[in-house]
Amino acid sequence: MKNSPVTDMDVRSSALGNGVSKKPVANRLYQTSTMAALLDAVYDGETTLDELLQYGNFGLGTFNALDGEMIVTEGVVRQFRAEGLAAEVPGSLKTPFACVTYFEPEKTFNIDRPQTKESFEGLVDSLVGNPNLFAAVRFTGEFERVDTRTVFCQCKPYPHMLEVVKKQPTLTMESVTGTMIGFRTPVYMQGVNVAGYHLHFLTEDQKRGGHVTEYRLVRGQLEVATISNLEIKLPRTEQFAQANLNPEHLSEAIRIAEGG
Ligand SMILES: [Zn+2]
Repeated sequence: MKNSPVTDMDVRSSALGNGVSKKPVANRLYQTSTMAALLDAVYDGETTLDELLQYGNFGLGTFNALDGEMIVTEGVVRQFRAEGLAAEVPGSLKTPFACVTYFEPEKTFNIDRPQTKESFEGLVDSLVGNPNLFAAVRFTGEFERVDTRTVFCQCKPYPHMLEVVKKQPTLTMESVTGTMIGFRTPVYMQGVNVAGYHLHFLTEDQKRGGHVTEYRLVRGQLEVATISNLEIKLPRTEQFAQANLNPEHLSEAIRIAEGG
């Protein structure tokens, strides 16, 4: 079966593997570096997009030098830079922070009435149940409004992320159709990842999007899966070695940086 395309059967059968195999595992979170490191300006990672895609076809993150927001849908990596315009990028690009999985929905829910960010998150929480597991989330449908932001490519010496986000370009899209995907991270993992919801958006025409800060949706399909299996690749770089990963007010800083 070498070199054959990944099928659902491959995904399921590989869940029985010994963890050494590169075969995809459904609903396992693969993460490079940590949110606390990104916050402390560790903007260069060692993982290429080609390597990242070996671990998932669904996810989000950013690029080396903090050069835009990343969304991964159906195995395609897209980069949102200023103006929120989406572009496909070469697999040789690297990422300092990304989270991917092979998303296999466990529950599907048809949303037929408008939801705010708060009511949508409450709905996902109730569908997922266990607050102490990660969850992968995908909503496909109509939005009354989506607010996104992107980040700019940074030059060395790298500024702290709280300085970067003060100048972040934002985009408001109204009456738009698209896909919002991402993860819910349990509170005790704050700093490793972003506690709570971290969602990125891609329009149906695949031309615009970014890191979601606010939204109101109208109707569509919600899919969720719980995640209890994590693999975190920590960088062996000097930047990471020198980073302060346990600063005071970590949660507040992440809230400001991620707009959650
Ligand atoms: Zn983001």
